[in-house]
Amino acid sequence: MHVDLTTLYLLVIGTLLVSAAMTLWERKIRPERSGALAFWTAGYTALAAGCLAATHRQMLPGIYGAATSNLIIMSGYLLILEGIATLNGRRHRIASGALLAGIAVMWCVAGTRWQGMVWDYVSAGPIALVSAATTREIMLCRPLKHLRARRVIVATTASYALLYAGRALLLPFLAQAFGPGFMAMASAVTMYGGVLYSVVLPMALLTLIREEAHDRLLRASLTDYLTGLGNRRWFFEQGARLLGGAHRSLSLLAFDMDHFKAINDRHGHATGDEVLRSFARIARKQLGPEAVLARIGGEEFAALLPDCDIMQARRIGQAVVQHFGGHTTVTAHGIAVNATVSIGLAEMAIGQKHCETSAEDDLGTLLAAADRALYEAKARGRNRVESAAITPLPRVSFG
Ligand code: GH3
Ligand code: MG
Ligand code: MG
Repeated sequence: MHVDLTTLYLLVIGTLLVSAAMTLWERKIRPERSGALAFWTAGYTALAAGCLAATHRQMLPGIYGAATSNLIIMSGYLLILEGIATLNGRRHRIASGALLAGIAVMWCVAGTRWQGMVWDYVSAGPIALVSAATTREIMLCRPLKHLRARRVIVATTASYALLYAGRALLLPFLAQAFGPGFMAMASAVTMYGGVLYSVVLPMALLTLIREEAHDRLLRASLTDYLTGLGNRRWFFEQGARLLGGAHRSLSLLAFDMDHFKAINDRHGHATGDEVLRSFARIARKQLGPEAVLARIGGEEFAALLPDCDIMQARRIGQAVVQHFGGHTTVTAHGIAVNATVSIGLAEMAIGQKHCETSAEDDLGTLLAAADRALYEAKARGRNRVESAAITPLPRVSFG
């Protein structure tokens, strides 16, 4: 089946306009990425306009038709690059302007004499360059590194850069060697590449933005908004992970602020919030990077310490009690508050599996044991650490 170039151009124009409309639509619901989405919408629209101008380039005299459509198409690629650069907080505006000016000069100088050569081969060079820069920009995008759509974007823009580099560097020699038939085939291949690019790239960029939003929501659903620590759900997920890992034991510290209601009553809820944030910072520092620390309730926190026996866990707990008790939280309004915390401690050995219990049940058992010790700490005067009775220890293993 033969598809002529005009049909392919029309196909590309149609898909680009649909992509522009979908990207504009997405922009309404993703204000956090409105900059990138606006650049991409403008980029697809410019590419569609450039393709339309290319199909009608003969209507303008001399080089004007070809030069104008080439410049509009280049602007489209540059706008897409600019959109990806905003994901990195970067800009290419001066370089883009200089490139467009350089292309305009090239058309004025060389285009008048060798219009066909400039249109067929030379103009492919800047497209290859901008596509390679787009590949580089998306590869630099560290925060989106783990998103799957990023790989599709890299593959698409890199293949496109190669296609156009081939057109600029190899096609002049191949066309001479194999004649006009080869040239027609190369044009068709370039347009097929354009059709694929105009479908795959916009879809992959939209998927990237959606994956990022999904990721952000997932993280928010596991994070405590006030302290930035993990929440109860995250704590149980991490607990199951630790129980399934190659650890020998797991210690759990249950924290509860002392007389916290009185702090709220005396200084106000906002000050209470500030005290909770102070506690999160101090506990995070004292517990170290290996610990899983979460806010599991209002003024209740919990930490899991893998491969840490009860004596080590007690020492760490005491360090938290001392540092938090000796710390004064000063609010933005200059209110100074001294608060203390009580800690209950329990340890679980992870060995041979003796009973059919889920990770959640075992973590629940461990938390209940630490809670009993916490109750004891409250009863013995607060601002202290108490351990749960060592026996009986549930012994479990997963995997
Ligand atoms: P105890 O020493 O026995 O633990 O006394 P307490 O006053 O800390 O215990 P209680 O459980 O009666 O009170 C906990 C208080 O924590 C009550 C609630 O208003 C407060 N609280 C819970 N969540 C938050 C929060 O997010 N911010 C603030 N400021 N207060 C909170
Ligand atoms: Mg409480
Ligand atoms: Mg309390």
